[in-house]
Amino acid sequence: MSSSPLHARHERAFAANRFVYPVLSRRSGGISVGVNLNPDKVCNFDCIYCQVDRTRQSETRFVEIDALLVELDHMLRLVASGDLYAAPSFSATPYPLRRLNDIAFSGDGEPTTYRNFDEIIAACADLKDRLGLAKVKMVLITNASMFHREHVRRGLEILDAHQGEIWAKLEAGTDAYYQLVERTSIPFRRILDNITDAARLWPLVIQSLFMRIHGEPPSADELSAFCKRLNEITASGGKIKLVQVYTVARRPAEDFVAALTNGEVDAIVDLVKRRTALPAAPFYGV
Ligand code: SF4
Repeated sequence: MSSSPLHARHERAFAANRFVYPVLSRRSGGISVGVNLNPDKVCNFDCIYCQVDRTRQSETRFVEIDALLVELDHMLRLVASGDLYAAPSFSATPYPLRRLNDIAFSGDGEPTTYRNFDEIIAACADLKDRLGLAKVKMVLITNASMFHREHVRRGLEILDAHQGEIWAKLEAGTDAYYQLVERTSIPFRRILDNITDAARLWPLVIQSLFMRIHGEPPSADELSAFCKRLNEITASGGKIKLVQVYTVARRPAEDFVAALTNGEVDAIVDLVKRRTALPAAPFYGV
């Protein structure tokens, strides 16, 4: 899923890379190395705010594991050594942010739909360890639609064993709003169940993008239902370490979608804190 606020600045293309790209993330205070597991730009959601440019077809259609690992190896060395900052697009990186923060699995679609998901997570974790970067986080940015598949579950376990963090997207309280925003055949119940099951095993970060649709921010009822869903997850034994509330920061797929104001984002954060007692943080549009 591409919509992460982690990616304050998109640099999908870096040199001749096809799968691995560096991103300066002011939020995390460092460089995030992105791994794109969906070079074909296919996603099982069709979010109205998606920022992947699907008007142009990508030349790379399939993940090539060996090529991806070579790119990741080079990129991790480039960032860890500091040589990245010799590149014109990173030469202005402030010194305090010149550090490797994480490897993020996201890209131009839903990363867990990649059929060799467990294999790639294991190989990336192994590479990270071999380079002496065991402490670097691995972040999975996901719509949670595939957690019930066995090989995805295996991948999540490997992720967890290697400083992994799951950032799962939940941005509706009702089925109708979910359908309006995500436009998918995957039932809302499936997403809620998958998030709940995963959160029982590993504390999750929830990513929630809210926006104006045809000029209208989410209704009070919708936000109230959203808080209720969060409470249901925790009441079932799920652990949520943070709810990130954010809004559209780049050009969305649909022109009837617009960003919320900073004040509106703050108000949702306050509501989440009050109704759920979970930690919540705002991330604004531009
Ligand atoms: S999950 Fe939504 S935002 Fe993420 S890539 Fe798919 S369509 Fe885009």
